[in-house]
Amino acid sequence: MKFTLEDLEQLGRRVADTLTEAADTVGKKTEEVIEVQKIRSQISMLRRENEKAFQDMGRILYTKYQDGESVDPSCAALCEEIEKHMEAIEEYEKKLVELRGKGFCKECQTPLSKGMAYCPTCGAKVENEEEPAEEDIFESESIFEEETEEKAEETVVFPEEMEEQHEPAKEVEEDLEDLVDSLEGKEGEV
Ligand SMILES: [Zn+2]
Repeated sequence: MKFTLEDLEQLGRRVADTLTEAADTVGKKTEEVIEVQKIRSQISMLRRENEKAFQDMGRILYTKYQDGESVDPSCAALCEEIEKHMEAIEEYEKKLVELRGKGFCKECQTPLSKGMAYCPTCGAKVENEEEPAEEDIFESESIFEEETEEKAEETVVFPEEMEEQHEPAKEVEEDLEDLVDSLEGKEGEV
């Protein structure tokens, strides 16, 4: 079989077309990847905002419960749990104070840990015979704060009632996830 000049020209055009097509595909793929990343970051941003809203809702409810206002029974059960945890934390803090502490602040009764030079609540000077040990201050303070915060957050997030109320938002989230999945599927085909 002989190749004519025409054949070669045709072949050349076909190769050029194929290259252009390939370049277009790569371009589209990059666009899709960027789009997927954008959608993903939107999803995680919305999730974070929801988490924060759920927590705020829980704190608002808990305040109502504490003020003696009537709250939904399922919420009241959670509030009771939170209250129990808080009481337990208080007991533990007292124990810590007994074990290694310096009693309570004379101004505001905040439990003080060993090594605290000033009250963490009101700033009053702690009457101190010993030199404060820097390491002790940081250690005990951070343990106090982390534990208190973690406990409160764990308990407040996602009471069943609240999840139900937010069903529509969840659906939108799922739709978005499906969209991302389908976009990723296309990526794989190319
Ligand atoms: Zn104080």
